[in-house]
Amino acid sequence: MKSQYDILIIGGGPAGAIAAKTAKEKGLEVGLVEKRPAIGAPVRCAEGIGKKLLADFIRPDERWIAAEIERATIIAPDGTTMELAHEMAGSEVGYILDRKVFDRELIWQAADAGAEIFVKTRAIAPILEEGKVIGAKIEAGGDVTEVKADVVIAADGVESKFGKWCGIDTTVPMREMETCAQYVLADINVPQNVTQFYLGNETAPEGYVWVFPKGKRAANVGIGISGKKSGPGHRAIDYLNSFVRKHFPEGKPIELIVGGVSVCKPLECTVSDNLMFIGDAARVSDPLTGGGIYNALYTGKLAVDVASKAIANGDTGKKALMEYDRGWRSSALGKALERNHKIKEIFITLSDEKLNSIVRSISKINMKEFDTFTLIKELIRVNPKLSLELGALWASIR
Ligand SMILES: Cc1cc2nc3c(=O)[nH]c(=O)nc-3n(C[C@H](O)[C@H](O)[C@H](O)COP(=O)(O)OP(=O)(O)OC[C@H]3O[C@@H](n4cnc5c(N)ncnc54)[C@H](O)[C@@H]3O)c2cc1C
Repeated sequence: MKSQYDILIIGGGPAGAIAAKTAKEKGLEVGLVEKRPAIGAPVRCAEGIGKKLLADFIRPDERWIAAEIERATIIAPDGTTMELAHEMAGSEVGYILDRKVFDRELIWQAADAGAEIFVKTRAIAPILEEGKVIGAKIEAGGDVTEVKADVVIAADGVESKFGKWCGIDTTVPMREMETCAQYVLADINVPQNVTQFYLGNETAPEGYVWVFPKGKRAANVGIGISGKKSGPGHRAIDYLNSFVRKHFPEGKPIELIVGGVSVCKPLECTVSDNLMFIGDAARVSDPLTGGGIYNALYTGKLAVDVASKAIANGDTGKKALMEYDRGWRSSALGKALERNHKIKEIFITLSDEKLNSIVRSISKINMKEFDTFTLIKELIRVNPKLSLELGALWASIR
């Protein structure tokens, strides 16, 4: 490992990997450290992503596509279902990935482009000079070395600590941290081209259960619930077990994962002097769905586009890097995050009766395109009883 890079990246998930690849393509010297011994494992993800979203970053490859999805089904607490065809179902349909292979492919592409990748190697502290980050202390096999960089990129995921060590408040409020549990269930009958989302305060308080097919009579069956709803006897895994007993009693769990998803607003500012935050570390996962793979890729690439210009100009101060923060906030992604946070804040207040009547109403609406504004307008029209909640939502996202 060199003692100086143009860019030092902390974390080898999708955000870090695409940042490393982009940096190398721009002719920069880049080092990436990943604390785990293997990239892509263990998987902490339901692995759903929209086809179109992915197309900007990587060519589809059957090695990491576990299933192709044509539509999504939303199931209300009373069992009412609504179907979203592919064009309307948004970014959560398209592919179910095999992230063990997908993440490895992304990092392989970065390595192939010339990025230096170090596994089982962790950042343990920033190196600060006059309060500004100029690198990181890196630990591997018990040895600690100092690595300096013009720009340090924190891509250390939802449990990100690097920002805190630099004195930046990156705390996610407990109520906005979804605690998740997921089985890969084998030997079950699920349609292989449909994702299913189960709603309800008994099923998944302030969250939802997902059933994402993984091919060969298997599926990711998982749940996210608000951290504040979790406690002894009613943790995410308890809700998940009771869901599985009811819906897939014959299922055979072949993998269990637990993890967290932040559903808060993004960091107030995603740059500082010589420092940038990308992906989950920037808190840019979708507050409504919890999806964050695309967001990680988008912010990872954009960050390096901006950093490379700043490095070329010899000024990597906060002001120069702000173009990145402004860039993603004003993009379609940034606007969706803002809107979906507001929608989520209303969604979590809805009783089962209201969820039932919303799903019932939506299932009657004939929309050519799934569009939030049309949806809310239609819902108010067909369901005056909900006008209080929906009117507030409409006003807040207009
Ligand atoms: C249960 C669950 C289901 C999900 N389902 C979906 C889904 O269906 N679709 C979707 O789009 N998103 C989903 N997500 C979210 C998605 O997994 C993340 O948004 C995505 O992985 C973010 O990528 P990232 O690169 O920012 O972070 P990560 O993938 O978390 O990568 C961060 C990396 O940094 C490493 N690291 C941390 N600290 C250090 C350190 N100090 N030094 C070195 N390395 C370090 C970690 O080991 C990790 O490998 C889900 C998340 C969970 C928990």
